[in-house]
Amino acid sequence: MDRLSSHQATKEVVQKHNFKFSKSLGQNFLIDTNVIDRILEGARVKEGDYVIEVGPGIGTLTKEMGRSAEKVVAIEIDKTLIPILEETLEDFPNIEVINQDILKVNVQELVKEKLNGGPVKLVANLPYYITTPIVMKFLEEDIPVTDIVVMVQKEVAERICARKGKERSVLTLAVEYFGKAEYLFTIPKEAFTPIPKVDSAFMSIKLYKDDKYKKIIEEDIFFKYVKAAFANKRKNLLNNFTALGISKDELRKILSEAGIKETERAENLTIEDFINLIAVFEKK
Ligand code: SAM
Repeated sequence: MDRLSSHQATKEVVQKHNFKFSKSLGQNFLIDTNVIDRILEGARVKEGDYVIEVGPGIGTLTKEMGRSAEKVVAIEIDKTLIPILEETLEDFPNIEVINQDILKVNVQELVKEKLNGGPVKLVANLPYYITTPIVMKFLEEDIPVTDIVVMVQKEVAERICARKGKERSVLTLAVEYFGKAEYLFTIPKEAFTPIPKVDSAFMSIKLYKDDKYKKIIEEDIFFKYVKAAFANKRKNLLNNFTALGISKDELRKILSEAGIKETERAENLTIEDFINLIAVFEKK
């Protein structure tokens, strides 16, 4: 069972099936064996694991994961890839390909029906045009997922994993609310065909088993304040929070009680700072 990860092997499959890459579906396939080995190492797919892959392409990663996982369910939107996957993955009865748009899939049901109820890992080279909705779907929809290990645009990984400073955003805090993100390594754009415009990165999110923050503060409330804090990145916290309909005097008191300067910006707050601050807001 040969690997598909070399440029030559990918070229052969693509030519044989006369496959046409779709830019709008974010199709850039991995063709670097060393990078794939590092991804497999980072994803730590092992015996007994249940894996979901979004966008298998021609099955390069899928096949490698199928060698060790208990079962892999790969969801691919492009129907022209389905006959290709049937062929490239034919030796793997533990891999199931589903021809659907991941954003329309009821993943909870899928895990129940096809993955023994989980827990599952999401491992994928994500289609970049929908990175955020896919990651948020797996975080928010009460799916029994333990790890999200994905390739995304380098800049997106930097934003998600930023501990402090300008790169932090609502997305950073959203991920931190559910788990611990880690930037694993950069992948040069030449590791893909066709070569995309920007470099990628491989990153992981380990979801908190104990609902660390969820049990302290409800999701809706957390996001209400985080979104308000980041509404205008050039404004400080005091000015952004006035949109909540609270007077500046009152806001000054709240910020001071939380030990935060009124001129501070959202990007300099840790998730712990937010949690403390929101507790003061909610007490009033
Ligand atoms: N995993 C392959 C690899 O690494 O070589 C392909 C990765 S490519 C960056 C993204 C894949 O996601 C493509 O196969 C594309 O057709 C698929 N895709 C795009 N949008 C999708 C969606 N909404 N649902 C499921 N798959 C999607």
